[in-house]
Amino acid sequence: MATAQKLQRLKDSLKSSAPMPLVFLGHGSPMNALKKNAYSESWAELGRALPRPQAILVVSAHWMTRGTTLVDVSNLPPTIHDFHGFPEALYQQQYPAKGAPETAREVISLLASHHAEGDETWGLDHGAWSVLKWLYPKADVPVFQLSIDMSKDLDWHLETGRMLADLRHRGVLVLGSGNIVHNLRLMQPGAKPHDWAIEFDTYFAAQLEARNLPALSDQNSMGSLLNMAHPSLDHYLPALTIAGAATDKDQLLFMNDSIDLASVSMRSFVFHEG
Ligand code: ZN
Repeated sequence: MATAQKLQRLKDSLKSSAPMPLVFLGHGSPMNALKKNAYSESWAELGRALPRPQAILVVSAHWMTRGTTLVDVSNLPPTIHDFHGFPEALYQQQYPAKGAPETAREVISLLASHHAEGDETWGLDHGAWSVLKWLYPKADVPVFQLSIDMSKDLDWHLETGRMLADLRHRGVLVLGSGNIVHNLRLMQPGAKPHDWAIEFDTYFAAQLEARNLPALSDQNSMGSLLNMAHPSLDHYLPALTIAGAATDKDQLLFMNDSIDLASVSMRSFVFHEG
C-alpha cells in the first residue's frame, strides 16, 4: 500500500483516547528540508494524520554525547545548521518552535539512572528541524531534544525508550530521527541500492515486525552486516529508542520503505494503538 494511503487509514483509525503514537523517521539528506518530494510530502501527511501533541521530544542522530544523556531545557531552542557544503537556502532555514522546559525536566527525572542532565547549549539540529518543518510547518508545537550516549551499548538505547514510554500518555510525541541504513562513504547518487543495504533494511523490518528487539540490539549476531549498514551507530540508535518505547498493544506501520543514494534507508515507522 502506498504511504499516503496508509497515513489516511492511520488518521481514520486513531482514537482520541489512545496514547500518542511513536514515530521514527529516516531523514536522509538535509536537502529534504527544502525539497518537496515523496519523503517530505509523506512527513507533511503524517503531521496531518497524528493527533496534535502537547510537546515533541526528538531523539536525533545528530546530538551525540558520551557518558551523559542531555535534555534540552531551553525556552527557545536555536536552529542549528550542522552540515557543510550545502546551498545557502538551507542555512537560511529557521524553525522557531518554543522549547518545553517543564516536560524536559520531567524527562531528566525519568532518565535519572541514565545520567540525564539539563542542557542549554544545543537546540534543534537538522535531524529535528528538517523533518519537523514538514510535520508541523507553523512551528507551533513546543519541541526539545534528547542526546544519544555514544558510549553505551544497543540495549541501553532500547531501555531509554522503555523509560520514556509513559510520555505517550501525557500527549508527548516521541520522535526518533536517523536512518535504518546509513553509510555515507558508500553513497552513490542514482545507483541501485547495495545488496547489504537491502539485507539490513529487510532484516530490521522483519525483526521489528516480530517484536524481536533482542535481535536488533545484539551487535555480535548482526556482525559485519551492521558494520556495513552503520560504520558509526548514531543514525541507528534513535530507531532502537522508539522501538523500546512500544508495547504489545501497538500496531506497526512502515512508510517510505526505500533506499536512497544506494546506502541510506529512508524506512520510517509508526507505532500506534488503534
Ligand atoms: Zn543525519
